Amino acid sequence: MDDIQPRSEAEDYSKFVPFSARMMAAMRARESSREDRLFHDPFAELLAGEEAFQRVDQQLTPQDQAYVAVRTRFFDNLLSHSKANQVVLLASGLDTRAYRYPWHPGTDVYELDYPEVLSYKIRLLENTPPTCKHHPIPADLTQSWKEKLLESGYQPDAPSAWLIEGLLMYLMEEQVHALLGVVSELSSASSWLGVDMINVKGVDYGPYEGYFRFGCDIPEELLLEYGWQAEVFQPSDEGANFGRYTEQYSAREVPDVMRAFLVKAQKTNSPLQH
Ligand code: SAM
Repeated sequence: MDDIQPRSEAEDYSKFVPFSARMMAAMRARESSREDRLFHDPFAELLAGEEAFQRVDQQLTPQDQAYVAVRTRFFDNLLSHSKANQVVLLASGLDTRAYRYPWHPGTDVYELDYPEVLSYKIRLLENTPPTCKHHPIPADLTQSWKEKLLESGYQPDAPSAWLIEGLLMYLMEEQVHALLGVVSELSSASSWLGVDMINVKGVDYGPYEGYFRFGCDIPEELLLEYGWQAEVFQPSDEGANFGRYTEQYSAREVPDVMRAFLVKAQKTNSPLQH
């Protein structure tokens, strides 16, 4: 457990962001232990480790935990709907879909995250067979990663499904645009994209103050710039709450409210020229 460490007094950004993957795993472990669970991640408890459970308990509310539960299910459903034979998980963290999800035989799953995060997961799950053709790709997503994905076998001309789950809020605005530009360039028509975002006001959200950097109030417009037709949900909306997210969000027109968005999008046309 040495390679993804929790926040200490002097914790810097580069340590906290990978550790956040363990906190996500802790929340998926909690959800998995419920009788009315929205999914079952049998590996999450091992990957999270005790410190991550402590941090979740100290810093996050039950609704924060419900958010991660509904987000996981929302994107599981998107993957099932997409029927894509190649799937790219950007900033996959300790997501175990490559080991737990019932992929169609032969599905290629590409996972990109920092080297220490992927090696930690692979080491702890070394005796667990993936349920897909698994391609872990160590990469910094703010640097060039397109070539690594292509070298690993990704086919840009074939339909794909992408998940960008719990990442964009940690990036600078120009990094978000660069990332979406590459995703768009590599996605053929009818490909699917699942992504979550916070709004601009959410950047200051208490437990993550100083760590969140990017928020977007109108994800539909942002994604349309890159050729994606998006459907945007708040976690309390029908179609996203799964009976688990119970705190009601106000309508999106209401100003000055922190928000999170769950987005599913499909590639329709060429991106606008930047
Ligand atoms: N998608 C996973 C999930 O939902 O559990 C992980 C989400 S976690 C909150 C954020 C993830 O983003 C971490 O795994 C972190 O390592 C990854 N990440 C953040 N910035 C990154 C970057 N520049 N390059 C690669 N991975 C990055």
